[in-house]
Amino acid sequence: MTTLFQDFQRIIRENEPLSSHSTMRVGGPAALAAFPTCADELSALIARAGEGGVRYIIVGNASNILFSDRGFDGLAIFTTAMRRVSWNGSAVTAECGASLTGLAAAATKKGLSGLEFAFGIPGTVGGAVYMNAGAYGSQISAVLTASEYLRDGVIHRREAADHAFGYRTSVYRSTDDVILSAEFTLTPGDPEAIAAKAKQNMESRRSKQPLEYPNAGSVFKRPEGAFPGALIEQAGLKGLRIGGAEISEKHANFIINRGNATADDILRLTETAQKRVYSQFGILLETEIIHIQ
Ligand SMILES: Cc1cc2nc3c(=O)[nH]c(=O)nc-3n(C[C@H](O)[C@H](O)[C@H](O)COP(=O)(O)OP(=O)(O)OC[C@H]3O[C@@H](n4cnc5c(N)ncnc54)[C@H](O)[C@@H]3O)c2cc1C
Repeated sequence: MTTLFQDFQRIIRENEPLSSHSTMRVGGPAALAAFPTCADELSALIARAGEGGVRYIIVGNASNILFSDRGFDGLAIFTTAMRRVSWNGSAVTAECGASLTGLAAAATKKGLSGLEFAFGIPGTVGGAVYMNAGAYGSQISAVLTASEYLRDGVIHRREAADHAFGYRTSVYRSTDDVILSAEFTLTPGDPEAIAAKAKQNMESRRSKQPLEYPNAGSVFKRPEGAFPGALIEQAGLKGLRIGGAEISEKHANFIINRGNATADDILRLTETAQKRVYSQFGILLETEIIHIQ
């Protein structure tokens, strides 16, 4: 496999521990990990993987991913080196690997409103569009005007209305398209009010979420009319530990890594919560975190 990617040596690593790239700090090695710096490199890597029959995955900041303990036996393509951002008045185009929180901070400095919700979401622009990331009453779909994506080596543009956005989903979840960049239109506003709202959101996160431990955000999606954290807490599971993983005492919809958790520990806790909530309340919780194996 390494020979196949020989001419990409500058941007490729062998046996790369996925744990050091995921916010959960869990996961075995990827046979190969690549860090393209532009769309051409990304496209060439995918083409080469196709020629060699090598399995590949696209990864942003792995803040919504649980990698397996066995790792990944193909090519993990990380987008985090593709992070150019260009502003044009109140519009901004950001490459897929740009930090969402970084973009929100830049918007705040410019007195532009619309991304205050995104403060503290530790993902990339690509991951956020893919998931339609959201918080505090807003989401990516409220500010996105278009995205560019790669399909079969060709770059296409998709307008906002064609993204099939829903709760933590977009059209990208049902395709193999790779998001290259996204365009957002923000609204000029009072810089102080924007900064205050962003600060308030960040403080609310710090007080409610176990940010002091590695985690991958909300484990379960919100079912209609209920909150997973409350259901898990009422089922008496707060603080439950399996191996090095724990259902957070601070927020029961978070599983934290107390230092030596394995993906297996986390999956077993996830299943326990799912089963107990179902047997007690008849509600089947659906996972938000994506398990890659
Ligand atoms: C402490 C914490 C708080 C969080 N709070 C929130 C929150 O408030 N709201 C929220 O919605 N989420 C939240 N999350 C979850 C996560 O940060 C978001 O879902 C984020 O948008 C994921 O971005 P990422 O770059 O990390 O994507 P990854 O986790 O790397 O990938 C997620 C999925 O997107 C795909 N993907 C990534 N980039 C691309 C691309 N360029 N093209 C195609 N597919 C791609 C991957 O293949 C994968 O299937 C939180 C996570 C943590 C750890």
